Amino acid sequence: MFDLTGQVAIVTGASRGIGRATAEALAAQGAHVIVNYARGEAQAAEVVAGILERGGKAEAVRFDVAQSAETEAAIAAIAKRLGRLDILVANAGIAIDGLLIQLKDEALEQQLAINLRGAIACARASIKAMLKARRGRVIFVSSVVGETGNAGQVAYAATKAALLGVTKSLAKEYAKRNITVNAVTPGWIETDMTRELPPAAREAMIAAIPLGRAAAPREVAAPILFLASDEASYVTGAVLRVNGGMLT
Ligand code: NAP
Repeated sequence: MFDLTGQVAIVTGASRGIGRATAEALAAQGAHVIVNYARGEAQAAEVVAGILERGGKAEAVRFDVAQSAETEAAIAAIAKRLGRLDILVANAGIAIDGLLIQLKDEALEQQLAINLRGAIACARASIKAMLKARRGRVIFVSSVVGETGNAGQVAYAATKAALLGVTKSLAKEYAKRNITVNAVTPGWIETDMTRELPPAAREAMIAAIPLGRAAAPREVAAPILFLASDEASYVTGAVLRVNGGMLT
């Protein structure tokens, strides 16, 4: 099950957290994984070293998804050099929290540039490379917050909700080319993004999760692996909730 031998996968934002766990899961199934990062060069190198040690195939490639020309050139170059591109996991994202009345245009722009425009640029370049092969898998990492909204996360929630519209549109646009496009909406996952929560907020979050705990990044990586696999051949335009029952 989920054999990815010979396939090429790009995971954006794979130096840490969910992206890292996803890169490791795809590589464990035999994919040659591009571990993308913008700033964490040493961390990305560590992810690659771990995969290579376990006998997998991986390399770190830097591009800032907010820079669409740089991003699209990098993805085109990867597809050309490796002769194929099978899987894109558009995972890179940031959250800058704050109430609307304190929201600065700069923070809004940054989140739009990375979470939304960046994901679209990655999909555009990747789908171009997948078209000829008439085969591909695109997975967007959205968020439960994109489905429910959240006080203090207006901009972040907007970008994550928008990704669901992107997912459903691209699923329709490229189904005839056998390129499936899906999204996962993680709930609360233990990563650098969520580690800073104050204890009271942490307790309130746990109380709202029927499974009674946050998830480890690998618990999001596994559903992404499924969506990336041949076994998910008839799943497209889907939003796979990975939230411990927080939203059903
Ligand atoms: P994280 O631990 O903060 O990691 C974020 C990753 O994104 C890092 O690898 C970072 O790379 C990369 N990144 C940031 N800006 C980038 C850019 N401009 N270009 C390329 N890479 C960039 O976050 P995470 O919690 O794993 O989150 C991953 C995704 O899951 C995000 O889209 C997030 O919104 C989503 N999500 C997270 C949760 C959660 O509870 N953690 C819940 C729902 C959804 P650098 O090394 O370059 O900084």
